[in-house]
Amino acid sequence: MTVLEIEKEIQQRQVIGLPHRGKLLPGAKYIYVNEAWDRNADGAPYYVMPELIALHDEERGKSGEPTTLTSVYRTRGTQDALNSKWGKAKFSAHSMGAAFDRRTNCIEHAQDIVDRYKAAAKRLGLPVPRFGMRKYQGVFIHVDIVFLHFKEFGGPFDYPSDSEPIRINWRPKVSW
Ligand SMILES: [Zn+2]
Repeated sequence: MTVLEIEKEIQQRQVIGLPHRGKLLPGAKYIYVNEAWDRNADGAPYYVMPELIALHDEERGKSGEPTTLTSVYRTRGTQDALNSKWGKAKFSAHSMGAAFDRRTNCIEHAQDIVDRYKAAAKRLGLPVPRFGMRKYQGVFIHVDIVFLHFKEFGGPFDYPSDSEPIRINWRPKVSW
């Protein structure tokens, strides 16, 4: 399967519906729907991996620190728009409902939060997530567990046939 075929299947299999602004994300204890969710302007339903919600709730419940998630699920249309505007990667764990970006104050704060998510993943019995941090200079961190979609890590899909970088990089512990 290609990346886009996998994205489509994921979206059809595990839809959580259309969240409303100011409302708690279905199935979550702490994730509120903020303006980030309105970025998907194409009206498509939302998908978020249950393990991702559990990971965030585990960290948030333990630390008690309020959070702002600036981006969670992105439809293909949203991702394509970002790509042309910011030159972002064509394929993103956000489009598989497996990633969120969380606002941070500085690089030390970012590192602290990354460590907390690592500990939370361990408590939940999940592999070490992927983290984007250094590249974003402490403004936000990217957290994802996209590898859980693939057979090697218990998911239903083979790695996509049309992206060698995904096969190599969408694995636990990868950071940038
Ligand atoms: Zn991200």
